[in-house]
Amino acid sequence: MFMSSTLSRTQIHAVDIDRGPERFKVYTQRDLGAIDELRQLPESLRFEMQVVSSVLPFRVNDYVIRELIDWGRVPDDPIFQLTFPQRGMLSEAHFNRMAMALRSGMDKQGLRAVADEIRAQLNPHPAGQLELNVPRDENGDPITGLQHKYRETVLFFPSQGQTCHSYCSFCFRWAQFVGDKSLRMATTEAEKLHDYLKSHHEVTDLLITGGDPMVMKSKQLKAYLEPLLHPDFSHIRTIRIGTKALSFWPQRFVTDADADELIELLHHMVIAGKHVAIMAHYNHAKELDTSIAKAAIARVRATGAEIRSQGPLLAHINDNPEAWSALWQEQVKLGIIPYYMFVERDTGSRHHFEVPLHKAWEIYRQAMQSVSGLGRTARGPSMSAMPGKVEVQGVTEIHGEKVFVLRFIQARNPEWVQRPFFAQFDEQATWLDQLKPAFGEKRFFFE
Ligand SMILES: *Cc1c(COP(=O)(O)O)cnc(C)c1O
Ligand code: SF4
Repeated sequence: MFMSSTLSRTQIHAVDIDRGPERFKVYTQRDLGAIDELRQLPESLRFEMQVVSSVLPFRVNDYVIRELIDWGRVPDDPIFQLTFPQRGMLSEAHFNRMAMALRSGMDKQGLRAVADEIRAQLNPHPAGQLELNVPRDENGDPITGLQHKYRETVLFFPSQGQTCHSYCSFCFRWAQFVGDKSLRMATTEAEKLHDYLKSHHEVTDLLITGGDPMVMKSKQLKAYLEPLLHPDFSHIRTIRIGTKALSFWPQRFVTDADADELIELLHHMVIAGKHVAIMAHYNHAKELDTSIAKAAIARVRATGAEIRSQGPLLAHINDNPEAWSALWQEQVKLGIIPYYMFVERDTGSRHHFEVPLHKAWEIYRQAMQSVSGLGRTARGPSMSAMPGKVEVQGVTEIHGEKVFVLRFIQARNPEWVQRPFFAQFDEQATWLDQLKPAFGEKRFFFE
C-alpha cells in the first residue's frame, strides 16, 4: 500500500478554506416571511409560494439563498426555480383550492386536510417504487428501506437520511418529507441491511440514497458502512452514496464539526479496497461555482472516492444545451465524472418541469457535441421506468417511418440490457408510457 494513512491525512486536510464552521440555518413554509430576500418580490408571487408550499414540501437553507441564487434574476434564476415553490407546480384546480382555503382564514387542521386531499391525488411513487422491488427476509416479511430491482445493485434508504439540506422543487420523493408514515421508505436497522447483503452474493453494488444520506452524522454513516469491510461482504465491491450535499451544503465535507470524520471514513473505505462513489446530484453549473463547493469536491476526491454526477433535465432550470455543456465542462475540470442525464419522472409537479423526449435528446446531443470526450460519459436522456432505465438514443427514419431509437441502460431482466428497440416518433411524448411501438408492432418486446 503506497498510501499510508498519515500521508493521506495531510493530503485530505490540505484544502485551504478561509471560513470557519457555519451554522446550518434552514427555512421551511412557516418561515417564508423571515427570508429577507423575498421581500423585494411582488406580494402576488409571495402568496403563490405560500399556496404551493402548503401542499408540497419546501425547505431551503441560508447557503443556497445567499450564495447560489442570483436575486437580481429572480424569478427566472435557475436555483430559485430549483428550490422555491412555483405556481405551475400545482394544477389550476389544486392551486385554487388551496388559495381559497388560505384566503378564507381556515385553521391549521382544515388546511392540513385540504393539503392531504390534494397530495392523495398526486403521484408520489412513480414506477412502482413502493410496492415492487422490496425484498423479503427469511420469514417472508418485507424489509422496508431496501429495494432490489436490478440484480447487481441494492438500494438502501437509511431512516436517518430521509431529509435533505434543501428540497428540490421537482423532487419525486416529496412524500417522504411530508410526514406520511405509510409512504416512508426507510429502515432503522443496519442489521437488516447487512443480513440481506451477506446472503446475496449476486449483489456487487450498494447504493445508499434518501432523501440525502449526507444529512446523517458521520457516526451514523459509519455504522452502516464500516461493517461492510468484513470479509463476509467481499462481494460488495462498490459503495455509492447518492447526495446533493455537494451542492446544497458543501460545508458537510469541509467545515462541519464532523466533516473530518466523514472524509476519513470515505478514505478508510477506499484504502480497504472498496470503490466508493459519491453520486452527486447536480442541476446547474452555478452549484459548482462557490469556493466552498470546490473545496468540498477537492476534499472528497483526495480520499480516493470518485464523484459521478447525475441529474434531471428540467424546464425552467436547465432545458438548453448551453446549461449542460457548461455543467459537464466544469465538472470534468473539477474531476467529476458525468454519469446520467435523467428525464423528469411521472410525479405530481411534472407538468411544470417536463420536456418532450425529442427535445431532451436534442439538448443532450448538442451539449455532447460541444464538450470533449471526457465530458461525454453521461448517458441519457434516461427514463427510470417500470421495466428499467430506458435511454433515448436518437430520432431517425427507417423505411420512411420516423422513429425513436431506444435502449435499456439498466433493466429488471438483465437480458434486455443494451437491446435497441424502436417507437413511433411523437412530438409531445414526455415518457415511455406515452410511446407506441414502431413498424406497426402491437407491443414492445418487454411488455
Ligand atoms: C439507477 C438505479 C440503480 C443503479 O443502476 P446503475 O445502472 O447501476 O447505475 C439501482 N436501482 C434503481 C432502482 C435505479 O433506479
Ligand atoms: S436532494 Fe434529492 S432527494 Fe432531496 S429533494 Fe433534491 S432530488 Fe429530492
